[in-house]
Amino acid sequence: MKNKRTLDKLGRPFTDLRISVTDRCNFRCQYCMPREIFGKDYPFLSRDELLTFEEIARFVHALAPYGLGKVRITGGEPLIRKDVEELVAMLREQGPGLDLAMTTNGSLLPQKAASLKGAGLDRVTISLDSLDDEVFMTMNDVDFPVEKILDGITAAEEHELLPIKINMVVKRGVNEESILPMAEYFRGRGHILRFIEYMDVGSTNAWKMDEVVSAREILERIQAVHPLERIDPNSPSEVAKRWRYRDGKGEIGLIASVTDPFCGSCTRLRLSAPGELYTCLFAHQGFDIKGLLRGGASDQELADFVFSLWARRDDNYSQKRSQSGPSDDGKVEMSYIGG
Ligand code: SF4
Repeated sequence: MKNKRTLDKLGRPFTDLRISVTDRCNFRCQYCMPREIFGKDYPFLSRDELLTFEEIARFVHALAPYGLGKVRITGGEPLIRKDVEELVAMLREQGPGLDLAMTTNGSLLPQKAASLKGAGLDRVTISLDSLDDEVFMTMNDVDFPVEKILDGITAAEEHELLPIKINMVVKRGVNEESILPMAEYFRGRGHILRFIEYMDVGSTNAWKMDEVVSAREILERIQAVHPLERIDPNSPSEVAKRWRYRDGKGEIGLIASVTDPFCGSCTRLRLSAPGELYTCLFAHQGFDIKGLLRGGASDQELADFVFSLWARRDDNYSQKRSQSGPSDDGKVEMSYIGG
């Protein structure tokens, strides 16, 4: 079938779609949405600029026959988009076999976990950068207690949005002393704690290389207390390197985009909330599909557009960064296309 075998210029297939449903968030994480930029006068997208749930579902329907295996709903914070569970239900209907996941800051999960599960969501990834309220607040610049995020994790567990992954971004000088307490808290709980190297996403977080705590250092800090062994990835495009505790107390993940880039196996496209496709987290240009959707394009025309874009794709920003350093040519904001 045409499109099915389309590989990009680096020989990668398209299998994962990340869908941002809003550019808004109720947190102000300094590595993603620094308050000094994303303040009360920031020109966030208005509701009528956003793709409707029907349009998003239609887009997924057009791609489903061509190897789309995983859809991740992101934001900003996806749970602040009103009735997002309705989108989950539509996507589940479009793709009964789809791996349907969501990345959230967890703040609204106690209220939403049941309806998300009921709508057909499989699992959640929850961001939590420290167990210490003060450090958490420093990192996320909101007066929101860690305990409530832990309540969100419990709600996800109770409603079987499993497996639960916990994402911790580590920034030197802010939360590296939280690495071991986080590892010890989540050991033996059945959730997968993933440590993410601080990245130069977008052009607003004033990223510096010396604020990156490398995956190797994170590993050494934990290994010194709790021996770990490397285990195989679940899939070729998995971003995290998996390590399990030798004493059987579960596993952790290391996402080393800066010191050990994984562009070679990157099979992801990102859809922004107003309907542009991005071929890389660090892209600086999107490709409009809203016009196609509202202009009456057929499913085949939509799919052809996506795969002709994919066939031209040669993104490998993180690899380039590791060879020639970062570039700040107006990269799209992570909060706009969802990590
Ligand atoms: S930098 Fe771009 S190409 Fe590389 S892994 Fe990230 S999204 Fe994929």
